[in-house]
Amino acid sequence: MPKCIFCSELEREIIVENELAVAFLDKFPVNEGHTLVIPRRHMENFFEASMQEIEAINLLIFRVKDVLDERYKPDGYNIGINVGEDAGQTVFHLHVHVIPRYRGDVEDPRGGVRNIK
Ligand code: 5GP
Ligand code: ZN
Repeated sequence: MPKCIFCSELEREIIVENELAVAFLDKFPVNEGHTLVIPRRHMENFFEASMQEIEAINLLIFRVKDVLDERYKPDGYNIGINVGEDAGQTVFHLHVHVIPRYRGDVEDPRGGVRNIK
């Protein structure tokens, strides 16, 4: 039995993958090209990942950037992980958000991932 939506979801547009991790487009993107990088193994959050899984995820983040740069030509990125419900996590399978940013997509981008609204 699949444990969660990211373990069970069959329909997803994969951007890049390797042995331990996979990157696919977010279904409800905050910006064009919003991508999630997840370990293949189910775990709730970042702090449960092995160093090999962290490395696999990090390698994919770089490859995701290359693909998104080519496809969407963003002007910047926000890269972040929500750990726990109180930090905004809604899907409890570790995922790293790679969010392309475009000049003018918000009025004042200062603060970036530090923005808590
Ligand atoms: P969180 O809020 O847990 O950090 O992020 C969960 C992310 O998963 C959100 O950005 C949300 O849009 C995305 N998401 C939720 N359900 C699905 C789904 O079924 N497919 C995909 N590709 N992304 C999803
Ligand atoms: Zn899972």
